Amino acid sequence: MPFSSDIFPPFPEMAPGEVWLVGAGPGDPRLLTVMAVHALRQANTIVHDALVDSRILRLASADAEIHFAGKRGGRPSSQQRDINELIVAEAKRGRRVLRLKGGDPFVFGRGGEEARALVQAGIPYRVVPGLTAGLAAPALAGIPATSRDTNHAVILAAGHRAAGDEGAADWEALAATGQPIVLYMALAQLPEIVAAFQRGGLPADTPATIISNATGGEERILETRLGRLVSDAKVSGIEPPAVIVVGANAALRATLAPGMVRP
Ligand code: SAH
Repeated sequence: MPFSSDIFPPFPEMAPGEVWLVGAGPGDPRLLTVMAVHALRQANTIVHDALVDSRILRLASADAEIHFAGKRGGRPSSQQRDINELIVAEAKRGRRVLRLKGGDPFVFGRGGEEARALVQAGIPYRVVPGLTAGLAAPALAGIPATSRDTNHAVILAAGHRAAGDEGAADWEALAATGQPIVLYMALAQLPEIVAAFQRGGLPADTPATIISNATGGEERILETRLGRLVSDAKVSGIEPPAVIVVGANAALRATLAPGMVRP
C-alpha cells in the first residue's frame, strides 16, 4: 500500500479461509475506505451486490474470481441462504473471500445474517464499515443528517417492509417522533408510507427530498414536500436506488447546495 506506516497501523493480511464483509460506499470509488481498497487488492474471491459500482470491481486483483450475488427488490430469502453457503464454501476451500456490499455492510445489507452464518460455520471474518447511502447521499446534496437548527436525531428506515398493518403502525410511531426519517428502498411502497406519516402527524408541508443514484452517472435529486411526494416522484419517473429524506433538515439544502462544489 502506498500509505505511510508512520500514519497507518499495519494493514492486516487477508488470510486464506477468511471472509471480509466490506462496505463499498455509495458508488464513487473515491468514497471507498482505505481498508476497502486494501481488501480489494488482497481477495481472490469476491462476492458482490448489484449496487457495487463496476469501477470499484476494477480494483480487484487480476486473478480474483468475481461472483455476482445480486438481490434486488424482495426476491425469496432462499437466495440469501445461497449467498451464505457460497461465502462459507469459498472460505472452506481456502480462498481469501471478500463479500462486498454497497454502502455499509451492516446497514440494511444483511451483513449481520452473513456474519452469523460465518460464526456458525466457524469461519473467521472481519467487518470493514462503509459509507452508507442514507448519510452520504443527503450530505452530497447539501442535507446534513443533523443540524442544531433542525434536529438532534435522525432515523434510518427500510421502506420495503411497509406493507401490512404492523408496518403501518411503525411508520406512524416514527413520524410522531418529529425527527427526520431517511428511507431506503422505499419508492415502491411510497404511497403507504406517506399516508402513515401523515396519520402519525407529519404536516403536508414537511420538506422531502429524493436522491437517486447518488454519486453515479445518473444522479437525480428531487426536492418536494410530503403532501406532493408521491405524485412528484411518479411524474418525475425517478428510479431506484434512491434514498428519501423526510424532515426539517431537508430544507437546509436550499441554503447549503448553492455554494457546494461537486463532485
Ligand atoms: N448497505 C447499503 C444499503 C443497502 S439497501 C448502504 O449502507 O447504503 C439498498 C438501498 O440503499 C437502495 O434501495 C437505496 O435506498 C439505497 N442506496 C444505495 N446506494 C444508493 C445510491 N447510490 N443512491 C441512492 N440510494 C442508494
